[in-house]
Amino acid sequence: MSKCTKCGHDSEKNHKKNDFILCDVCFYFAPEENDELEQYLKEKVDGSLLKTFRRKENPAGKRQKRAMIKKASQGKLMSRAPFGYKIENKQLVPAENYREVEELFEEFLGTKISLTQLAKKHNFSVNGLKKILKNFTYIGKIKFNNQIHNGTHQPIISSTLFNHVQNKLEKLKIR
Ligand SMILES: [Zn+2]
Repeated sequence: MSKCTKCGHDSEKNHKKNDFILCDVCFYFAPEENDELEQYLKEKVDGSLLKTFRRKENPAGKRQKRAMIKKASQGKLMSRAPFGYKIENKQLVPAENYREVEELFEEFLGTKISLTQLAKKHNFSVNGLKKILKNFTYIGKIKFNNQIHNGTHQPIISSTLFNHVQNKLEKLKIR
């Protein structure tokens, strides 16, 4: 593998997205849509700033790491906000449609509607809906390399509702 297109980080563990090489961190925030991805890749990031995310927990890197998580959670690393959020003054804030997120979670949890039907009803792809139902952003957290960190943005659903949905997803073996 070679260097990350966005930040220049060189690692064998880099991912491939379409025809581009991306590191773990940049891959995580990369948008799905092609034109958005292009824009995302144009906005370069200094790879050394992202280092704290990659480094294993060590006391010296902790403060920097917190600062980066804050940045991520304020939308500064994201080119597109998750459904139900928008980026305003470089902050991740609830969008006008934020209640729809709770509706999705509650509908999935409280009814027998299938994931496919629910996706159709709300005009999502099944994968898009899965991503929403598993997105830790909605409870105020940020997920990185399989670790959950506290963000600084406003949660828009309760942890209880989120956890119940995760249990149901697991029960139904939806990955
Ligand atoms: Zn990168």
